[in-house]
Amino acid sequence: MTIAIYPGSFDPITNGHLDIAIRAARLFEKLIIGVYDIPDKKVLFTTKERVELIKQAIVNLPNVEVEAYNGLTVNFARKVKAQAMVRGLRMSSDFEREFDMAMLNKKLYPKLELVCLMSTLEYQFLSSTLLKEAARLGGNIDDLVPKHVAEALKRKVQSKM
Ligand code: ADP
Repeated sequence: MTIAIYPGSFDPITNGHLDIAIRAARLFEKLIIGVYDIPDKKVLFTTKERVELIKQAIVNLPNVEVEAYNGLTVNFARKVKAQAMVRGLRMSSDFEREFDMAMLNKKLYPKLELVCLMSTLEYQFLSSTLLKEAARLGGNIDDLVPKHVAEALKRKVQSKM
């Protein structure tokens, strides 16, 4: 079975992330979205919340699963027996960072292949960071995230005010 992981912080999942997951799910028999378990202080949503928001976003994707992990991403890949790691590439600064990480990961786990998918044009400038900033300032984020994520973001931003 061809298995790929799609790791990231997903704080929270956006339509840009989802677009990559949908496209990657067509290439692999199983796609496991790996939610990096970052200390809660550094993220807006807890790991549990980020996993839950992804779960709701992938209900219609039968070969996509979500799982939290900590430690090295390559160790997570080993654990779930993934042959590939998927990442999304936006035009701006993603390439250099991905290239560096890919070189290191190749050293740590030579058998794992990196598969980068180019971001769709409409999501090129979408990041969770900008999204959170827009939500904080009361901007309309409805076209950038699934409906349940927009609602969760609005609730979260209000609870922090
Ligand atoms: P990280 O914390 O590793 O940067 P993110 O949660 O921000 O992880 O993103 C996970 C993956 O999704 C990364 O490969 C990132 O480049 C990609 N990604 C993020 N936003 C978009 C987008 N708008 N379009 C395509 N890929 C994206």
